[in-house]
Amino acid sequence: MPASACQYTFFGTSASMGIPSIGCNCAVCTSCEKKNKRTRPAGLLEVANKKFLLDVGPDIRAQCLEHKLEDIDGLILTHTHYDHVAGIDELRAISFRKKAPIPLLASQSSINDIKSKMSYLFEPKSHRADIFSCQVIENNMQSVEFCGVNFSCIFYSQLGMPVVGYKVGDFAFVTDIKNHDKGIYESLKGVRTLVLSAIDFTPTRAHISIDEAMDIAKKSNAERLILTHIGHELEHMSTTEKLPENVELAYDGMVVTFDPKA
Ligand SMILES: [Zn+2]
Ligand SMILES: [Zn+2]
Repeated sequence: MPASACQYTFFGTSASMGIPSIGCNCAVCTSCEKKNKRTRPAGLLEVANKKFLLDVGPDIRAQCLEHKLEDIDGLILTHTHYDHVAGIDELRAISFRKKAPIPLLASQSSINDIKSKMSYLFEPKSHRADIFSCQVIENNMQSVEFCGVNFSCIFYSQLGMPVVGYKVGDFAFVTDIKNHDKGIYESLKGVRTLVLSAIDFTPTRAHISIDEAMDIAKKSNAERLILTHIGHELEHMSTTEKLPENVELAYDGMVVTFDPKA
């Protein structure tokens, strides 16, 4: 990658249970197609020569080894459902080696939740130092500077849990969106490549449908929509054929480049 390239690498593109999911014999879970094998949510955002992990699902250790990721400048969390944070403890390996805490960006509610569940990650007495140093996104903060990079914040919710999406340059990552108001379109202004979560063609209790995702992309004037957090209802090749040209299904290992200045 050239030093100036900005990109996002999808480490994991599955819904919460991963694909194949335990004990499932459906056509997608038993498929040999590489793009039907999906691990849990996580990804690497590279911008301004910084590397950020965006969520840390339960498969993060294998994902870091697969992508030879040895170091990060920070961890950014969208929310604290298990499929997005269960791997947070694995980042001790990075913090221990650096002998420094990893900067962590998340909402106050996410930080409170992680601290209550895994307090040892924030207690120097049980380690040489804190594993994480927290930077809080206050409610309705329009943008935040984290490790020298400016992010626009996008607020919405899922099953009553507040979730934060992030826009950097002309790229935005908005996962686990179910309920939102019109404010998100203001926050998404200038987006060209929009990543949205959508499990299936039909909506579920926790997730919007592909049609609803396309509607959000249209209202945001995004040129390119990439769907992630994909369920085993969607076979990669046959679903791709059904989608319009500017809508794609993400797959593990997919890399998207973007313009950081837009
Ligand atoms: Zn969630
Ligand atoms: Zn999720």
